[in-house]
Amino acid sequence: MDLTNFTGTEIGYYFVCKKKLWLFSHGVKMEHESDLVKLGKLVHQESYEREKKEINIDDKIVLDWREDGLIHEVKLSDKMENAHEMQLAYYLYFLKKKGVTLLQGKLDYPKLRQTKLVQLTPELEDKLKHTLIDMESIIRSSTPPKVNFMNICRSCSYAELCWG
Ligand code: SF4
Repeated sequence: MDLTNFTGTEIGYYFVCKKKLWLFSHGVKMEHESDLVKLGKLVHQESYEREKKEINIDDKIVLDWREDGLIHEVKLSDKMENAHEMQLAYYLYFLKKKGVTLLQGKLDYPKLRQTKLVQLTPELEDKLKHTLIDMESIIRSSTPPKVNFMNICRSCSYAELCWG
């Protein structure tokens, strides 16, 4: 099974909401640019404009490559740190499958002035593979998974579709 068929966005959606992952992967694209997303981009641009190099690989992942030799992922807050870590782990796994094995990643939270180094250890890779297999089964299903209303639904672009 090819577990590198996902985009970085889909990895993030899996952790936010499995139904969102299903809708997105089935071509229901309603994502609009919320103020938070705009702010995130602004933080990203302002903090790292001079040193960043974005590399798009197979239209699946967009890597933020820096002169420090690390792949960076810039986030606004650490509320979804597990999701952020898995997204970065996926990038490292994706690259490993292409023969690039010695890279490391770094989560940057410029607003919090914090960073976290991410290495694709055997344990993290194992956890990631379980996640990817679960994602595969969600996407293959002909119906979206049932989920309960969550706080995050209030600001989700699919809210009208799910609960309207
Ligand atoms: S509205 Fe809620 S349930 Fe629906 S996709 Fe968004 S987060 Fe998931």
